[in-house]
Amino acid sequence: DPRIARISSAIRVIPNFPKPGILFQDITTLLLDTRAFRDTIDLFVERYRGRDISVVAGIEARGFIFGPPIALAIGAKFVPLRKPKKLPGEVISEEYSLEYGTDKIEMHVGAVQEGERALVIDDLIATGGTLCAAIKLLERVGADVLECACLIELAELKGRERLGEKPLFVLVNSA
Ligand code: IMP
Repeated sequence: DPRIARISSAIRVIPNFPKPGILFQDITTLLLDTRAFRDTIDLFVERYRGRDISVVAGIEARGFIFGPPIALAIGAKFVPLRKPKKLPGEVISEEYSLEYGTDKIEMHVGAVQEGERALVIDDLIATGGTLCAAIKLLERVGADVLECACLIELAELKGRERLGEKPLFVLVNSA
């Protein structure tokens, strides 16, 4: 798809952020390119329209940028999966391990019902820990997670393997 090259080149790579040795994939430059931003949303909508998805769950923070336009276009609701202590209502949470220590994501109780068909969206998959925690949260409330979608996959980190059988759709691969 010729749209992929434009999307790929609109993503900026910043060395040594947030720590020395890290090559940060920065999607804010993609948002400045109206055609690349539009193409990104279109590619996801083309893939997920007509698949009876009832909920798009977006992971804080950049899943909040891409999730809502996709949800609106396919007629699904949007549910934010947030960092700890951000959601004001009753939450369920799922802990996951990082290179050093642990982190957590939370979802409002009652946001997703048993039997719902969910898509999980984030900007990037690295080790896959964040997406795994998101899948677990949704499955704990009885939802069926059809697929995870990201703009960028850092394939070297093998996050896809951590997702097991769960399908992962990405637009751009970055080694
Ligand atoms: P994982 O849990 O190791 O797969 O890390 C994925 C999470 O870290 C996602 O929520 C990403 O937004 C974030 N992340 C890791 N590396 C980058 C990066 O280079 N650019 C943007 N986000 C990143």
